[in-house]
Amino acid sequence: MFKKLNILDEKDPHLRKISENVIFPLTKEEKDLIQRMVDHLTFSQIEEYEKKYDLRPGMGLAFPQLGINKRIIVIVYEVDEETFENYVFINPKIVSYSNEMIAAEAGEGCLSVNREIEGHVPRHARVTVEGFDENGNKIKVRAREDLALAFQHEIDHLDGILFFDRIDKKKPFYKETEMRLI
Ligand code: ZN
Repeated sequence: MFKKLNILDEKDPHLRKISENVIFPLTKEEKDLIQRMVDHLTFSQIEEYEKKYDLRPGMGLAFPQLGINKRIIVIVYEVDEETFENYVFINPKIVSYSNEMIAAEAGEGCLSVNREIEGHVPRHARVTVEGFDENGNKIKVRAREDLALAFQHEIDHLDGILFFDRIDKKKPFYKETEMRLI
């Protein structure tokens, strides 16, 4: 039976802490929670379930958003209509990135931020992320464009950073000539 996750709001202090590295093997609780995150994010991107369970659509979540300050992120990326790729990264690290920066034209959203925040969030256009899967095997992904953006957003959560921290307060919007907007 699907049970909606209780996602913490930005005001919760868990969202501002630096999370700790995970020690393997994962506990059953950690594995169960990862599965629930995958289910929640998948359902939130399928209209029928989004309505049925009253979910806010989202493609990523990090453990601190569930009140656990451990370095685990989950991204459910829609590659095609209702076809998803799941990325579960334990102790993720950005090992290289492009100098080119991009920003989501419409701004970013976060399942922990329940208000409209306008502004462009500068991110690297491409990142290589290393980490471990649930069984402790080393994994690596090269992400670009919106997937790269998602990885940077989720890894920020592990360091207590929220997307709006990266919006320039004096100049929240970039022109097309200053930044590639996607
Ligand atoms: Zn977020």
